[in-house]
Amino acid sequence: MKFKLLTSASLLSLALLSACGQNNQTSVTATDKKPQVNEQNIKAHLEFLADDTLLGRDTGSDGYQIAANYVKSYFKQLGLTPMGEHKGFEQKVTFRKAFIEENSAQLSVINNDGEVALKFKDAFIMSGDSLLTASAIEAETVFVGYGVVSKDFGYDDYQNIDVEGKVVVVLTGRPDDLPSEEGAHIGSGSEKLKHAVKHGAVGFITIHTPKRDAVRTFAKTASNADAPRLNWLNKEGRPFGKYAELKSVAYISAESAEALFVGAERKLTDVLSDDTKNIAIKGFALNSSVKMASKSRHEEISSPNIIAAIEGSDPTLKDEYVVFSAHLDHIGVSSHGDEEDKINNGALDNASGVSILLETARLLSTMPEKPKRSILFVVVTAEEKGLLGSSYFATNPTVPVTQMVANVNLDMPLILYPFADIIAFGSTHSSLGPIVARAAEKIDLSLSDDPMPEQALFTRSDHYSFVKAGVPSVFLMTGFQSKDPDINGGEVFGDFFKNHYHQHSDETTLPIRYDAAASFAEVNMMIGLEIANGEQRPTWNQGDFFGKTFAQ
Ligand SMILES: [Zn+2]
Repeated sequence: MKFKLLTSASLLSLALLSACGQNNQTSVTATDKKPQVNEQNIKAHLEFLADDTLLGRDTGSDGYQIAANYVKSYFKQLGLTPMGEHKGFEQKVTFRKAFIEENSAQLSVINNDGEVALKFKDAFIMSGDSLLTASAIEAETVFVGYGVVSKDFGYDDYQNIDVEGKVVVVLTGRPDDLPSEEGAHIGSGSEKLKHAVKHGAVGFITIHTPKRDAVRTFAKTASNADAPRLNWLNKEGRPFGKYAELKSVAYISAESAEALFVGAERKLTDVLSDDTKNIAIKGFALNSSVKMASKSRHEEISSPNIIAAIEGSDPTLKDEYVVFSAHLDHIGVSSHGDEEDKINNGALDNASGVSILLETARLLSTMPEKPKRSILFVVVTAEEKGLLGSSYFATNPTVPVTQMVANVNLDMPLILYPFADIIAFGSTHSSLGPIVARAAEKIDLSLSDDPMPEQALFTRSDHYSFVKAGVPSVFLMTGFQSKDPDINGGEVFGDFFKNHYHQHSDETTLPIRYDAAASFAEVNMMIGLEIANGEQRPTWNQGDFFGKTFAQ
């Protein structure tokens, strides 16, 4: 319907033009020619990207490359500038895939009662190591609470504890009084490992807590233990985010971890009970040691990010970039149960985000007045493997990192109902909050507060890689309010997460509302314009934790 409206409007302007002659051409204002969002375009993109032939677009697969070729081809059609490597659209990312060798994982605890060998997957989990093909250590253990360090929030779990040459033992999770988004960063695995290495640890064991068990059971986590781990390789061929100092890393069930605490000043059950009651936990020396060993097999794969730009019209501001990102990869093929359909099509995760990004690119590239700043589209690989494609791009950007003024990320917009509001995770950290609100208001959408702050979604998609590079970022999502009184957006959300998220049923048979997708593209276009044409580039809020931690 929108397409028809556009066509008749354009016909009308053409008719006016020919009737009034050439002199009146200027009377057709820029707004008359403003491109209209076309929901059929989004549908066409989405149906291609979520098709069975692409087999779930797994990182490094042919299906992913076909999807990448499609995106490249569309950017070419739009006449965008290639911004990848070697004057092309692709940025090649090489990954090391590490598989743990069958029956190689060993963890034994030695305490006053003797030595106990724990059983892989029943009692502990180890993953493939992307640095070492074989490792074996024997070292004393030491408990460091959650293993978090943050000057801003007054935490240093390593204070007055000697961990040099030892295996540190930590609880999964973080202190309860940290705000959710800051806490998600401070309590992340990568931060914990970094601080352990800094203090001289040689191994790292995380204890699965009852608190964690309520969210995801140990058995469920263990069922994924054989899956390979991926790291991207830097120019020297070293896996990013891996520490040579840490020889062994394991995840252990609460019951099995009790052996580590035999003869220590506190029993693990008491510590875990404090954790459940949100009582602050301090570390202490343990009276045990561990033997840890594993063997890993390595494979190398590569998979590209696709990068393109619309050049800005302002001679100075065109050197600054508004960055739109969306991940193109999904989780490929998997078999669980006796379901016939084994393909994870990822129609909403994230064919929807990429399709909307492509339509946003079309809208912004056909504006009668070009945006002042340049607009960069970064379609990334390996999000599902741990935000790896975006991490590679943010660490090896094809434009200077200081010239990326903002990131707007699209991941899994739930276009299943006519949403009446949007959520912008990250909007409370920078001036992007008011910018997004202004843009949304122009098309009668409101900006709502994060309805699920406990999920800390600000740290869970590709924009987080840009945040870590110091770039103010927002992650847009359809809000919970619905224009249709018979549909509860929050319920649709809950149902999707429960029944379709990372499952075979995330496919085009879902009741996708392309009118909602069109609104989402429109709000993205408005946000892009607002940032691109703004007098000032976006800034982190005064004293904001993420701004202070990551921006130069
Ligand atoms: Zn996903």
